[in-house]
Amino acid sequence: MPTSADQDAGNAQYVEYETRGSTAWIWLARPQYGNAQNYRLLNQLDACFRRAVEDDAVKVIVLGARGKHFSAGHDIGTPEKDRHLPRERVLLWPDHLSRDGAEAQYVLEQDAYLGLCRRWQDIPKPAIAMVQGACIAGGLMLANVCDIIVASDDAFFQDPVVRMGVPGVEYCAHMIDLPPKIAREFMYLGLRMGAERAAGFGMVNRVVPRDRLEAEVAAIAEQVAQQPPFGLTLTKQAMNFIEDQRGKRASMDAIFHMHHLAHAHNQVVSGNLVAGLDAKAMARANKADTGKAGIDEADAGDGTPQA
Ligand code: ZN
Repeated sequence: MPTSADQDAGNAQYVEYETRGSTAWIWLARPQYGNAQNYRLLNQLDACFRRAVEDDAVKVIVLGARGKHFSAGHDIGTPEKDRHLPRERVLLWPDHLSRDGAEAQYVLEQDAYLGLCRRWQDIPKPAIAMVQGACIAGGLMLANVCDIIVASDDAFFQDPVVRMGVPGVEYCAHMIDLPPKIAREFMYLGLRMGAERAAGFGMVNRVVPRDRLEAEVAAIAEQVAQQPPFGLTLTKQAMNFIEDQRGKRASMDAIFHMHHLAHAHNQVVSGNLVAGLDAKAMARANKADTGKAGIDEADAGDGTPQA
């Protein structure tokens, strides 16, 4: 049932859009919750990407984030968490609210997570992710649909969902992009990887000081925008094709289905999709692992990752 908080949030703007020259700048704009992603944020993001695609003056897209962190992941605990609300679907999956059992989460995530990310990966214009602070779990999904990732020196990447018994997020490009031994370490330990280390493995293109991040991204975007647009589209298509031939799409399908076996198992065993690990429990476990808070409730509200 929708609550009064839902009504208040009905018109909330979670994503901002602007153009500067040939570049569309799309901003995650929930900094009070570490840009935790609820379903309305994702649909607004999709609308912004569509706007950028349809504007012929836009040659390049930048995906950035307001505040201290890029994204703490999917929303598992803020007051505007909205899994219980109807949502406009993008693909042809049924309404998750009309389904029960494992099917409800499966159809929801086929559309809102795997489906949207694939759609964004296929956008025929180059996209640059501009990452500062935390980029956790669902945050990695958004960064990884972009062609290039530029990170500030304070950025870190983390996919800690093994703690929930889940083998990676729904669009799990980092398990494919990282060298296998490093991916195993990243996933088994679920610890943060700093931007410099991520750049060493090619998961990040460039690392720049925090106060230079936006200027550096703007400069790259302007340079890319000089190229002929259709040439860029075909080059991007070529790269997507190469990655798919290397097994990216098939691997992500396999991971997605294991992810849903884990959700179903958790439901059977604990009655909860993520084994009862709420945002506060994840933040506590993070502190225990790293000995420091980094992103905690003060930074992210309750917006630590959902699997
Ligand atoms: Zn999931």
